[in-house]
Amino acid sequence: MHKRYPHLFQPLDLGFVTLKNRFLMGSMHTGLEETKNGFEKLAQFYAERAQGGVGLIVTGGIAPNFSARIKPNAAQLSFSFQVKKHRLVTEAVHHHNSKICLQILHAGRYAYHPLAVAPSKIKSPISPFTPKALSLKGIKKVITDFTQCAVLSAEAGYDGVEIMGSEGYLINQFIAPKTNHRVDQYGGNFTNRTRIATDIVSAIRQRLGENFIIIYRLSMLDLVSQGSSWQEVVTLGKAIEAAGATLINTGIGWHEARVPTIATMVPRSAFSWITQRLKQEIKIPLVATNRINTPDVAETILASGQADMVSMARPFLADPQFVNKAYAQQADRINTCIGCNQACLDHVFQNKIASCLVNPKACHETEFPLKTATKIQRIAVIGAGPAGLSFAIEATQLGHDVVIYEKHADIGGQFSIAKEIPGKEEFNETIRYFNTHIQLLNIDLQLNCTINATTDLSEFDHIVIATGVTPRIPAMTGIEAKHVLTYQDVLWHKRAVGHTVAILGAGGIGFDTAEFLAHNPEHNPTSLDGLNFLKQWGVDTHYEHRGGITEKQPQDSFRRIYLIQRKTGKHGATLGKTTGWIHRQSLKDKGVEMIAGAHYDKVSTQGLHLHINHQPELIEADTIVLCTGQESNNGLYNELKNQPETPYQVHLIGGAHIAQEIDAKRAIDDGIRLAHQLSQ
Ligand code: FAD
Ligand code: NAP
Ligand code: SF4
Repeated sequence: MHKRYPHLFQPLDLGFVTLKNRFLMGSMHTGLEETKNGFEKLAQFYAERAQGGVGLIVTGGIAPNFSARIKPNAAQLSFSFQVKKHRLVTEAVHHHNSKICLQILHAGRYAYHPLAVAPSKIKSPISPFTPKALSLKGIKKVITDFTQCAVLSAEAGYDGVEIMGSEGYLINQFIAPKTNHRVDQYGGNFTNRTRIATDIVSAIRQRLGENFIIIYRLSMLDLVSQGSSWQEVVTLGKAIEAAGATLINTGIGWHEARVPTIATMVPRSAFSWITQRLKQEIKIPLVATNRINTPDVAETILASGQADMVSMARPFLADPQFVNKAYAQQADRINTCIGCNQACLDHVFQNKIASCLVNPKACHETEFPLKTATKIQRIAVIGAGPAGLSFAIEATQLGHDVVIYEKHADIGGQFSIAKEIPGKEEFNETIRYFNTHIQLLNIDLQLNCTINATTDLSEFDHIVIATGVTPRIPAMTGIEAKHVLTYQDVLWHKRAVGHTVAILGAGGIGFDTAEFLAHNPEHNPTSLDGLNFLKQWGVDTHYEHRGGITEKQPQDSFRRIYLIQRKTGKHGATLGKTTGWIHRQSLKDKGVEMIAGAHYDKVSTQGLHLHINHQPELIEADTIVLCTGQESNNGLYNELKNQPETPYQVHLIGGAHIAQEIDAKRAIDDGIRLAHQLSQ
């Protein structure tokens, strides 16, 4: 028995096969499925996770027929000739003694193309295409296509399949009265609406026999009006069990739901209570999911009997060695998924290859072969923000001799301000990861050490300038007044802020600063309190209403806040595709006033004078906070670069290189890539 995580490392006997532990790597579409030679890269991607110790992997969703595709070029498995490339994946995973199931996903009305089909001709709010209602013959064909896809999966060497029955995709669309207005045997009463789900599971079980894993992803909480009732969830769960499923995985929220379900502000394991509720009704093993990102959280879920397995998806992008590190009781070495969605889901929505903000090597494994540098270099890194730190750690792991100089008393740079925002507490984990690795790799870290052009750096072969950014101060009469603060004054130096606040600039930092100032500092961060979060977003924890949603109970803002931008469009247009709506809704619910189309005139003791849509206005703000973008700290680079005959080469990365749209994703990526470049 494992000392620290006895439940996580207890094998799970499924009768015909035993899973070596309770970790399930949840389904993630990476984008490699559709690229040239993508399956070679995919095989490497899954191989690293299998080698990293995970017991059972579920692939990204694969369509069982053409109209089922989520987008026109999405991957499909319907024909024998498509089997071969999947063998690359299954063989790679089996080589490392792990199991893998293929997820069969029919997008239904979420399909982003004109051939979309659904139970009824009802357009979804998140797709421009109105689906065609399936005929009875069409439904029978869908069931046959799911079965054929499972048969081909078995031929490809998969240990089983996962039937995607949640998140608002086709099967879910049949189940909910909201999207199923049929009057035949697949519509009307509950038994009819769920018939397609049980038909698919039964058909696959019949064709593939007993020794094939069938996971059914059951929508336990639709989070949309006219979704399933709790009694219906239980009845369906039992029917799926009777139809021959091996495991039931948890699905939370349709994609069109307006409740955050996986973003960083969702408290850890905020939804495992729903799996626990179903566990009392079902005999086959249940899998808990959503915002489980540390072995301790996962162990607690299992130890408290909420579920039999835990599904984690993004944490395996962040760290392929998650399970091995947990096994070795080195959880502090895990590169934790911070739930930002910036490089995973946001990429997928932009048709880019998925990756990870904290681990840019994810899904790019073949570009970063494991190696050591041929020539060891002595390298000085100036600045311990995400760019400098990621460079320093990667370069040291590649064999170089690195010293980090940081002018502050702590590492993290601007990232250590991000973690101050309520809902962004996860960002602490990245700082912890950096700190642990600095110690582990014995990197020489010089804190409280400002480097300037006169500092003697002649002992080094390379100088990496990662000095980041400083807040931009716009030119305006009165801008130097005491009641004008930068976001750094507020978030870093904790300067006092009055009751009425005008925030200038509504980019990511403007939104975050508004969230920080709206929050009552006397209260614990609301984001750590699961029940409070669910209440605020209107999740019906008693499950008395269909879909598990009820009236929201948002908290009013602690201050009167105006969030102002010069642009005329909607606020937060530049925020992440999958998270921008959450930030906007959160501030709106708290009563933050959004002003667009502003022209700033001046600051006076009365407040901020401006024109809004050409009308003069005065906002009687006690404090004016500048979130008006940033400028590169590249002075040191320019000075060093211009010095004649230096023994070292100078490099510029992160915000110090380009301040425009700098975020931690680019900063970390810059650092990792430069480390490899210097090691060729
Ligand atoms: P910095 O983080 O600015 O680090 C530069 C470091 O260099 C600093 O520690 C500085 O003290 C040090 N330094 C400077 N000059 C010297 C010198 N001469 N000698 C020694 N040391 C020196 N990004 C995201 O991707 N997602 C988010 O959700 C997100 N949220 C944010 C929220 C807030 C409130 C803020 C402020 C930023 C947020 N960011 C976010 C942005 C992200 O933190 C930055 O893009 C990132 O930190 C830039 O990294 P960097 O290493 O280039 O620079
Ligand atoms: P930003 O997104 O570029 O926003 C700065 C805002 O200031 C702009 O929206 C602009 O809006 C305004 N502005 C620019 N120049 C101005 C001027 N001269 N006078 C007045 N207003 C001016 O930058 P940021 O908010 O500083 O964020 C920096 C980076 O951190 C971003 O790239 C972002 O990706 C990242 N970040 C991300 C998150 C996240 O949740 N993903 C959170 C925080 C930060 P108008 O011109 O319309 O006024
Ligand atoms: Fe997690 Fe962010 Fe990485 Fe996605 S990009 S896996 S959410 S840390």
